[in-house]
Amino acid sequence: MLFQTTIAGSLPKPEWLAEPDMLWAPWKSKGAELDRAKRDATLLAMKIQEDAGIDIVTEGEQARQHFVHGFLERVEGIDFARKVEMGIRKDRYKAMVPQVTAPLRLKGRVHADEARAARAHTTRRLKFTLPGPMTIIDTLADSYYGDRVKMAFAFAELLNAEAKALEADGVDIIQFDEPAFNVFMDEVNDWGIAALTRAAEGLTCDTAVHICYGYGIKANIDWKQSLGAEWRQYERIFPAIDASPIRQVAVECRNSHVPLELLGLLKGKVVQAGVIDVATEAVETPEDVADTIAAVMKFVPRQNIVATTNCGMAPMRRDIAEAKLRALGAGARLARERLG
Ligand code: ZN
Repeated sequence: MLFQTTIAGSLPKPEWLAEPDMLWAPWKSKGAELDRAKRDATLLAMKIQEDAGIDIVTEGEQARQHFVHGFLERVEGIDFARKVEMGIRKDRYKAMVPQVTAPLRLKGRVHADEARAARAHTTRRLKFTLPGPMTIIDTLADSYYGDRVKMAFAFAELLNAEAKALEADGVDIIQFDEPAFNVFMDEVNDWGIAALTRAAEGLTCDTAVHICYGYGIKANIDWKQSLGAEWRQYERIFPAIDASPIRQVAVECRNSHVPLELLGLLKGKVVQAGVIDVATEAVETPEDVADTIAAVMKFVPRQNIVATTNCGMAPMRRDIAEAKLRALGAGARLARERLG
């Protein structure tokens, strides 16, 4: 089927699970009660996607507080008690970040509970997101390795172990999220893609990388205004991504300043084209979605296009996120009628 649909990864959490409308939202319960609430929210997130016509569903990242720290919480060698201030994404935000103080090891499985719950309750293709190595090390201070590239490869090994276990749980697509890829373009080419390739080594399921200009939060909106009318950062990294073994690339296309012609550099990839803007509360119409798909089709063969959201929806109002999902499903159906 042409123009299958998916989402970047996260959905807003119900208010009985976590504080609504914010990133890093505190949980509303703890212990076994929190575990049950996470599972219930995971099932609900998938049902909402299925009813909206999403073909490749995710668990909505309902069991993690943040897309990077959900992984880090299960890694030994990180001191969360003594955080230090660090400018992340080349100083776009100041954040208090934990420090790596010892060799990195997994404490066990990271996402087994939610991956298995998701797999048991949907027959659709299931995508699971993990943070990419470059984005992880841009969110942490190093007081042990003395070499950030070495630390990135240490994380890549851990990601690879969890990714293989997720594949064994029945996940169909593993997606690594690398929002740092449009900030450190030289490093992406020097080692970022090599580290990503290490994280995906040996996987037989589909693999994807999501690169993006971030959520619609203020620090991002201010940064985007500094980038000029055309965002051509991807021109420097798409050739290397295209040469990598990662099979799919997720890129924002709706209301984007990324010239769509750059997608033509991804000759051998499935493109997950973002057709839903997560930085505005204005809900797209199905026509908007079909029009964006048509625009992408000028540069990507139709059979290689998957329709998705520009980025995660975690900080969004639930009713708006759900309306946007319905627009995505209806818009892809319309595109199949018009363009198929
Ligand atoms: Zn994103």
